[in-house]
Amino acid sequence: MTITLAQAGLTSAATSVSYRALTPRQQDVFHRALEAATQATNVWHIKDIHEFAAAVLDIDLPHNDELVECSCEGCPDGCDAIAPLSLCAEYLDGDTLRPQCPGCADDHRITSD
Ligand SMILES: [Zn+2]
Ligand SMILES: [Zn+2]
Repeated sequence: MTITLAQAGLTSAATSVSYRALTPRQQDVFHRALEAATQATNVWHIKDIHEFAAAVLDIDLPHNDELVECSCEGCPDGCDAIAPLSLCAEYLDGDTLRPQCPGCADDHRITSD
């Protein structure tokens, strides 16, 4: 019997970065980009802003994707990963959907019931 695991296409470019590993300038750009994205009224502007931020952070962001910060509650130190939303797992916290980065989802996936 053969077991086939569905593997996401892995590339050499970073699919997630640690917030603490960013330079102060990258952290600043990231915050201002997310702030600008929440102010944007046009969905294409939002996508563009996320794409620009991903370029600054050197993250391989899939087209039309968004950057999110991991909201994992299962990490002792609190995870600070920034990753594309499409690669993250999502769990329900009350009635809020929160992202969990690929590393956390692999390691200690939170399942909402
Ligand atoms: Zn975690
Ligand atoms: Zn995480």
